[in-house]
Amino acid sequence: MKKIPPFFDRHIHFLIEGSKPKAHEIDDRIIAPMLKRGILSFYDMGGKGEHGLVIKSYCRHMKTAGAALYKKGGYGSFLGIGIDNKADISRAILNNAGKGVDFIKVINSGIVSADPSQAVSSGGFSREEMRMIVEEAAERGLRVFCHCNGEQSILDALVSGVSSIEHGFFITEECLQIMASQDTSWTPTIFALKAFRDTISDIEARRYLDSVIDKHLESVYRAHRLGIKIGAGSDSGAKGVRHGESFFEELKLLLKAGLSKEEVLRAGTMEEQELERGNYVVIDEGFFEGNSNMEVCFSSII
Ligand SMILES: [Zn+2]
Repeated sequence: MKKIPPFFDRHIHFLIEGSKPKAHEIDDRIIAPMLKRGILSFYDMGGKGEHGLVIKSYCRHMKTAGAALYKKGGYGSFLGIGIDNKADISRAILNNAGKGVDFIKVINSGIVSADPSQAVSSGGFSREEMRMIVEEAAERGLRVFCHCNGEQSILDALVSGVSSIEHGFFITEECLQIMASQDTSWTPTIFALKAFRDTISDIEARRYLDSVIDKHLESVYRAHRLGIKIGAGSDSGAKGVRHGESFFEELKLLLKAGLSKEEVLRAGTMEEQELERGNYVVIDEGFFEGNSNMEVCFSSII
């Protein structure tokens, strides 16, 4: 038996199977399944409905991006505010800051596709726009968490000074070196791609995505060795990625990448001080095999 701080899912959305939830589903299918499994803290990575701004009022351990910023015409329209030009950037950040977001989430690429000829779908900003987003966010005292896949978009995000890389498929050694030197953290959301892979029937496409996942696992281990802070994030709300249970699939994949059990738990839990506040989870030896009896104790959710 081991007593650990509550779990912390660093990447969720208030969506169900990629779509807007009905009002009652936010508590029943998003928050309750997480709390039941000991996930007390989570980062809402944005949605058009800006649900996080309301939920924050009664889940004080969560943080929210409100609505994410995406480049008009590219990927991300269901996640937030479409940006067309520089004036839009200033307006969106001012607006989000005024609403009380905890950080800015920006979509700087599309998503991984099952077709190797177009590895990542279209989307994202120019390097100049990314710089402006990070600068304007900093002026409001806000960090920028960046959705990005593909070498160029990750590099642009890093040289612009984002605080965190979200997803980061096709990350390169050069990018990892920059992250290590700038102290940028990484939430690799491995399970989300595996879940997408499982929806595909074409054998060749599955094999291709398996190779992308394998490479990603190697990069996660490399990042870990370089001292980059790895966060466990499920990307719950995406298709096939359910709140609560998916987080534990992500932990298993971090273990598969080569992190030790202790390191995986560190990547996926809140600070040690939570134990003193009476917030904890008790796990047993079967935890990583998925057959553990878990005891959850929260002194304060609100
Ligand atoms: Zn996401």
